[in-house]
Amino acid sequence: MFGQFRPKDLSLNKIMYEIMVEKQNNISSILPTYARMDAKFIRGEGCKLYDDNDQQYHDFGSGIAVNCLGHCHPALVKALTDQAGKLWHTSNIFHIDGQATLADKLCDITFADSMFFTNSGAEAVECAIKMARRYHDANGNPEKFRVISFEGSFHGRTLATIAAGGSEKLTKGFGPVMDGFDVIRFYRDMSKVEDHITNETAAILIEPIQGEGGIRPVSRENLQKLRQIADKHDILLIFDEIQCGVGRTGKMFAHEHAGVTPDIMPIAKGIGGGFPLGACLAVEKVAKHMTLGTHGSTYGGNPLAMAMGIAVIETIENEDILANVQKMSDKLSLDLMKLRKKYPDVIDMVRGLGLMMGIKLHIEPPEFVRTAFKNKLLLVGAGENTVRILPPLNITAEDIDRAIELMDMTCQDILKNKSLD
Ligand SMILES: *Cc1c(COP(=O)(O)O)cnc(C)c1O
Repeated sequence: MFGQFRPKDLSLNKIMYEIMVEKQNNISSILPTYARMDAKFIRGEGCKLYDDNDQQYHDFGSGIAVNCLGHCHPALVKALTDQAGKLWHTSNIFHIDGQATLADKLCDITFADSMFFTNSGAEAVECAIKMARRYHDANGNPEKFRVISFEGSFHGRTLATIAAGGSEKLTKGFGPVMDGFDVIRFYRDMSKVEDHITNETAAILIEPIQGEGGIRPVSRENLQKLRQIADKHDILLIFDEIQCGVGRTGKMFAHEHAGVTPDIMPIAKGIGGGFPLGACLAVEKVAKHMTLGTHGSTYGGNPLAMAMGIAVIETIENEDILANVQKMSDKLSLDLMKLRKKYPDVIDMVRGLGLMMGIKLHIEPPEFVRTAFKNKLLLVGAGENTVRILPPLNITAEDIDRAIELMDMTCQDILKNKSLD
C-alpha cells in the first residue's frame, strides 16, 4: 500500500497518507452506484415517510413497488416482531416453519404447483432460467437453452439477468455478455415473436407490464399470443411479475387480466412488503425436474421472510386490498388525465394498470422526480421518458388528492424554471 511513500514517523504520516488517498480518490465507503436523493428517512407510516429533520414526504414510489401495504403496517410489524422473538434462521437443511404455509397459499391462488424461495428478484429470475434449461435437458433436448427476452425489459443485475435485459446500460463493461439470450423488439404485435424461435429456444421471458422500461403494458391479446406460440413450439413461457405482481394491477397477478397463465413466474418486491423475499413459481411438468441438489439458497425461505410473505397475502385478503386498488386506480388515472390536460407541455401520456401508473413526459424524468422531491413527493423514474407512480395498495383517496396537488405544484415549478431559462 505504501509504495514509494515511506514515512519515517509512521503513525502520524500514515494517517496523513490515508487522508490524502481518501481525498485523491474521493471514494466513499459505499460504492457510488446510485445517484441518491438528498434525504435520509428515519421512520414511515402508511404512505408517509419522515426524514432526519422530521420533514414529511408522500411516498408514491413504495421503495419501487416493494412496500405494497405502506410503511410499518401494523399486521406486518406484528408478524415480523413475533417471528423475531422466536426464530430467525436455521437453514434449508431443516424444515422451515411457514414455508409450506406460504407455498400452499401461493399455489392455491395461482397456476403454480411448486416453488423455490429466494431473497430477491434477480435470484428468482435466475431460478426461472435454470428451470427452463433443466426442463428441456431432462426431456432429452439439451440444445434448447436459449431464452427470448425483450428490449426495454429489466430482470435484475446478475450476469444472466443483465444478459436477459440486454441493454448496454446494464451490460457495458461486464462482458462477455452471457450466452443464451435473444433480446428482441418489444413488438406491438407479439405474433412476430414466432419468427425468432429456433430449435435452440427454451423459453420466452417477459414482464406483463415493463416496470423499469417505463410502464409499458403487454396487451391481453399479446400475452395470449405468446401463450399460443409457446404451446405450439413446446417452449416455456415465463412471466416476470416481480414488479407487477402481488396486487399491484388490481388482480393478484397481472397475467390474470389476460386469462392466460405462464409455466414459470418469478416474483419478489411486493410479496415481502419490505422484507427481502422472492419466489420462483412453476407448473408441475417444470418443477419436477428441479430434483434433490439441483438448486439452493442459504437464506432463501428463512423464517422471517416466510412470516412476512404470509402476513402480506393474508392482509391483502383480509383488507380487501384488490378492491381498493381498482377503486383508487380509477381515481388516480382520472386525476392524472386531468393533470395532463392542464399541463400538456409537461405530461405527454398517462398509462398503466391498477396502481402501476406511469406518466410519459416531454421533459427528462429525473427533472420531474427531483422537482417532485423538493415538493416532498417521492416518485420513481423509468425508461421511455416515464415517471412511475406506485403508491401503496392500501392508499386512500385523500392521499391521492394530496399527491396530485404536489404533482400540480411540480408541473408549475417546471414551467416556471423553463420560462426563466
Ligand atoms: C426489480 C425487478 C427485478 C430485480 O429484482 P431485485 O430484487 O432487484 O434483484 C427483476 N425483474 C423485474 C421486473 C423487476 O422489477
